[in-house]
Amino acid sequence: MHPVRELARLLLPVACPCGELDVRWCARCAALLAGPPVRVEHGAPRLDRLDGVRPVPVWALTPYTGPVRDVVVHWKDRGRADLDRLVAPSLRRAAAQLGPVLSAALRGAAVAVVPVPSTSAARRARSRDPVSVLARAVADGLHDAGVQARVVPALARRSSGRDQVGLGARARGRNLAGAVRMTRHGTRTLGQRSACILVDDVLTTGATLAAVERALEQDGHDVLGATVLAATPSPAAAPDPVARPPSALGEILVRT
Ligand SMILES: [Zn+2]
Repeated sequence: MHPVRELARLLLPVACPCGELDVRWCARCAALLAGPPVRVEHGAPRLDRLDGVRPVPVWALTPYTGPVRDVVVHWKDRGRADLDRLVAPSLRRAAAQLGPVLSAALRGAAVAVVPVPSTSAARRARSRDPVSVLARAVADGLHDAGVQARVVPALARRSSGRDQVGLGARARGRNLAGAVRMTRHGTRTLGQRSACILVDDVLTTGATLAAVERALEQDGHDVLGATVLAATPSPAAAPDPVARPPSALGEILVRT
């Protein structure tokens, strides 16, 4: 190896979050994020609205396990903003695949792509907001599929809401009840009644998405679904949701 490159490698070692050396991300991790998106809301107990209305459809690229966990943790919390170039194109391709499903529900109308807001503590710790990168990717992917889509950061966490890390399902629910509010920008931009698609990094219990859905619905908007990079597998889920056929995209029932 060239001596200068050798030195640079010693000073700035490059590795995929899974541990593979000399690449920013490896082919195996990239393949895990290649989709197709599959419906995962059945594995998120806190998405159950308990009002008889079916939980909001959620599409994920992959289960949140093994190397995918490593990629997400390094990307979000260990300063690997360069992994934007892995996760954003992956989600963009997935959103393009969702285009026809959304088009059928939208009937020509535009959709607002709403990032799930992080706590201000998380935002400060990361000095950026990774979910906004995903929201941009989803809007681009929908646009690729001919759907009018724009990112609207419509929501904020109330300052009382603490980060969810380390909280169990029940504590998350308590923490999040009323923890999300519309921003003035969100209210103004979404207007009277907008179709929305939510974007988050990881679906765990669904408590965060449920709080966001509630806040948007209370303001008169329709939440058509949510897209996430990865979803914590439910015990009842098929062993390898990545291998499910694209028909697992499902369809959207627009609530009236
Ligand atoms: Zn890897």
